[in-house]
Amino acid sequence: MRRRSALLAGLALAAPVRADTAPLEIGGGRLTLAVDSELPGAVRAAVPGWIAGAAQAVAGYFGRFPVPAVEIEVAAAEGSGVRHGRARPGPPLRLQLALAPDTEPARLRDDWVAAHEMVHLAVPRLAIAHNWLHEGIATYVEGVARARAGLIAPRRLWIELAQQLPQGQPRPGEGGLDDTVTWARTYWGGTLFCLLADVRLRERGAAGGLQQALQGLLAAGGSYAVAWDIRRVLEAAEAATGQATLSELYAQMKNTPRPVDLDTLWARLGVDGTRLREDAPLAALRRAITAG
Ligand SMILES: [Zn+2]
Repeated sequence: MRRRSALLAGLALAAPVRADTAPLEIGGGRLTLAVDSELPGAVRAAVPGWIAGAAQAVAGYFGRFPVPAVEIEVAAAEGSGVRHGRARPGPPLRLQLALAPDTEPARLRDDWVAAHEMVHLAVPRLAIAHNWLHEGIATYVEGVARARAGLIAPRRLWIELAQQLPQGQPRPGEGGLDDTVTWARTYWGGTLFCLLADVRLRERGAAGGLQQALQGLLAAGGSYAVAWDIRRVLEAAEAATGQATLSELYAQMKNTPRPVDLDTLWARLGVDGTRLREDAPLAALRRAITAG
C-alpha cells in the first residue's frame, strides 16, 4: 500500500489490539486476527468476513494462501474508512491494517487493502530500489484476484487500470524503474510492468500468464518470509513459464525511462474508456486474465 495517495508517513499503531476471533484457516494458511477493541462493535464484527474474502481471493490466485501462518492486526486509526496497511516480515509474519471508526461495515467487502497486503506475502522482500516490483505485483494482482473471486466486476478493474496507469509512465527527467522512487512510478509504474508482463507472457504461449509465473515463484520458496535479489525473483518466476519475458522486460525498463503506448495496448485489449469491446484482437486474452 498505498496506491491512491502519497500519504502513509509514520504509520503508528499505538492503540491496543486484542485477539478476539478464532483463527481463519484459508487455502492452507492460518490467519490469526487481533482487532482493536476501540473500533465499534459492528466494524469489529465485519472484519473476519472482510479478511476471509480477501484471503480466499488471494489463495484462489496463487493456488494457496501465500504463507502457512500470518498474524493480522486491525487497529483503529484517525480519518475515514480503511486507512492503510503494511506487511511486516517478523517472525512471525504480520499484516497491520488500520481502519477509522466510521468505516461502513458493508463497504469492507469492496475494499482492496487487505488483499493488497496479502499479495505482498507471496513475493520475497526486495531491496528498496525494487520496491516498484513489490508494489506493482501487490496492486495488479490484488485487482485481478478480486475480479476472479467476484469481489469486483472485471469491467471495473479494467476501467480503473485505464484511468490510473498513465501515472506510471516516466515523466520528463525521470529514469528507469530502479532509478525513480516516486510514488507514481513505484505503484503504477510497477503495475504497468505487471500488466505488460501478463499480456506478453500470454501472447507468447504461457496460458496462465503472470499468475503462472507467480505461482512458480511461490513454489520455489519465494515469499515474504525471505529476502531475495530481484534477479532471483524474476528467474524463479519465469522458470515456470519457459520464457525469459520478465527478465527481458526488466532489462528494458530498469534503468531506461520507457513510455508505454497505452492507447494501442487498450485498443488491443478492448478497453475503450468505460466500455469493454469484445471485437478487439486481445479481448479473449483480457477475459482470460480475469476469468475465475
Ligand atoms: Zn503495498
